Amino acid sequence: MIRILGTIFAGLLGLAFGSFLNVCLSRWPQGESVVSPRSHCRNCDHTLSWWENIPLLSWLALRGRCRNCRSSIGWRYPLVELAVGALWAVIAWRSYYAFFPLEFAAGMMFLAWVLVGLAVLDAEHLWLPNAMTLPGAALGFVWWFLQGEQVGWALHVPPTPWEDAEEAGKRILAILAAALLILLIRWIYWLIRRREGIGLGDAKLMALLAAWLGLPGALLAFGLGVVLGALVAVVLLAIPAARTSTEGWALKKLPLGTFLCAGGVVSALWGQPIIAAYLRWSGF
Ligand SMILES: [Zn+2]
Repeated sequence: MIRILGTIFAGLLGLAFGSFLNVCLSRWPQGESVVSPRSHCRNCDHTLSWWENIPLLSWLALRGRCRNCRSSIGWRYPLVELAVGALWAVIAWRSYYAFFPLEFAAGMMFLAWVLVGLAVLDAEHLWLPNAMTLPGAALGFVWWFLQGEQVGWALHVPPTPWEDAEEAGKRILAILAAALLILLIRWIYWLIRRREGIGLGDAKLMALLAAWLGLPGALLAFGLGVVLGALVAVVLLAIPAARTSTEGWALKKLPLGTFLCAGGVVSALWGQPIIAAYLRWSGF
């Protein structure tokens, strides 16, 4: 019962945080404040009343249009709210069996929230801001470290300072390795094509994923992201209208960061069973 109530509560809270994320995603790239003024239509500046500001329901009730000027409100708004709400509900449901469910869930929810935000920013602006990736990676490292400490104390085998330093060192190496992987691909791509293929933002995003999920989790996210990106590219190629559009295909940039974020979410939630199954299958 507590589990069900907690899941519903987390889902509703996720809708609200998704709604706030939408405000950030619309205003931040324009350099506007995310606190004031109150929520308004981006087309006609009509200030939203409370009932036009309810996550998901308002968008449905208004059928995706501003009440004042009838201009359409993008699909991104309900999608982001739904994504954060659904992810938070799943995380709450699954945290039930974690060692320290509240701390675990809080960390994972923050990660999911950041990944949804970065996915949208990269999709809309091809932009993975340092102001999100770098503090996000640092927070992930701290969260991971505290989780390990707590579990150690709970099992009555608190780690010694030497063990702490060793574990932390390994984690930092994992973070650097994840970022280096992207830099290496970037360099190889540049050698072959003499053009920038992957942004530095993607390297910092991989560092963030490794800080939260460890190197295997980050590599899984990378693999899933690349497969997903390739699938999307193939689908786009199959659509004639997309092929004949403007610049031609080689120059068209797909937001790798968006696919990495999607892979990161899957890796965070289902990484352990997937990696375990892979190791069994490959005979380790
Ligand atoms: Zn309007």
